[in-house]
Amino acid sequence: MNEIPYKVYLSENEIPTAWYNLRSAMVNKPAPLLNPGTHQPMKAEELAPVFCDDLIAQELDNDTEYFPIPEEVLSFYKMYRPSPFVRAYFLEKALDTPAHIYYKFEGNNTSGSHKLNSAIAQAYYAKKQGLKGVTTETGAGQWGTALSMACSYFGLDCKVYMVKVSYEQKPFRREVMRVYGADVTPSPSMSTNIGRKILEEFPGTTGSLGCAISEAVEVAVSTPGYRYVLGSVLNQVLLHQSVIGLEAEAALKKLGVTPDIIIGCAGGGSNLGGLIAPFMRDKIRGKLDCRIVAVEPMSCPSFTRGTYAYDFCDTGMVCPLAKMYTLGSSFIPAPNHAGGLRYHGMSSVLSQLYDDGLMEAVAVPQTEVFKAAELFARVEGTLPAPESSHAIKVAIDEALKCKETGEAKNIVFGLTGTGYFDLVAYEKFHNGTMDDYRPTDEDLAVSLAKLPKID
Ligand SMILES: *Cc1c(COP(=O)(O)O)cnc(C)c1O
Repeated sequence: MNEIPYKVYLSENEIPTAWYNLRSAMVNKPAPLLNPGTHQPMKAEELAPVFCDDLIAQELDNDTEYFPIPEEVLSFYKMYRPSPFVRAYFLEKALDTPAHIYYKFEGNNTSGSHKLNSAIAQAYYAKKQGLKGVTTETGAGQWGTALSMACSYFGLDCKVYMVKVSYEQKPFRREVMRVYGADVTPSPSMSTNIGRKILEEFPGTTGSLGCAISEAVEVAVSTPGYRYVLGSVLNQVLLHQSVIGLEAEAALKKLGVTPDIIIGCAGGGSNLGGLIAPFMRDKIRGKLDCRIVAVEPMSCPSFTRGTYAYDFCDTGMVCPLAKMYTLGSSFIPAPNHAGGLRYHGMSSVLSQLYDDGLMEAVAVPQTEVFKAAELFARVEGTLPAPESSHAIKVAIDEALKCKETGEAKNIVFGLTGTGYFDLVAYEKFHNGTMDDYRPTDEDLAVSLAKLPKID
């Protein structure tokens, strides 16, 4: 028999009781959010009309190491955490690799992804502040679904602006959100000033996350008792997602295994930022010698082809400026099938770590991703989300490299969600109608030329 079990189960009592703030370990801190008018760092009181107070405090805090997880959030976590940590024996066998492959699976809740980890925290703080409801955007729909669940749990209203292409292609996620009582509007819509403006300029646009964010923010700041919440990119979201990394660290400790390579898909950077949090801390402190790899789609390559600069977080330019690897806020990626990886920018935390050479990034074409997804589904049983499958693809590539060199490396990757709602994408893959769109340098130059000038 194998010396290591297929799954490492932590007990309920081993769910982390505090989130870990990776910024506290960073030597070069992530650049602050800037006021889009004055270009000065945003102060808490300037953020207060948009975000919940406790979340602002978390967003601006680069020093506190641990934030206790509130009791109400912890009891919600107990319904679906600890999440499984799995040794991919069957994948190793199929690849005939000496590498040891492990994954942390975050798809075992109804929303189907890791997004619930932050949604429930954000809904809790909104409720604590006595708010009536929250607004948000959603791309592929996982964040909207997670937030709807969280809002329904705490009795908050939830208004979701859903990128139009997803609204049309993914009616099932939309209906899950409505099961949980959310109000879902396709974006861009005629119900906001910014939506009307974008539709006038780009009639027939399939929408983008940047544009949906602008609409959600506009509604939040103009509706009493509402604030805006975001499912990725922000420091606070990476903080909440650190539960993934802390549990993975505990599981690896139980096994006595030290990771050599940690791999995660990167949309806005929240699952990866959460997964790597304790490992990156150890790497920064020289206690762990481990490669950390972000995987992004070739169609939306923020790290590998973007510029590290201040940019708008949204198309309507109403949000603060964030310094990040970006393709430009006016970049609207061709509709790809990993909707959760279509954001033009990247978390400031991960951007700084990447710029400091502490992380690597690779961009992969979508048909290769689906090939990897299918192999994984066939041998490991779990149907992976297209986003997660970016990480699978690179984990497989790394395991195959080990086969050449004969090295038994320990590879850990984040399996962020399930693919049950992505079967239209799988259908395209099977029918051979999926393409590997790659923006040209000229395409990128157009949106990058519109980066704000900051001195
Ligand atoms: C949203 C999402 C992602 C990408 O978002 P990050 O903030 O980069 O983690 C990845 N996988 C799934 C399943 C998602 O829903």
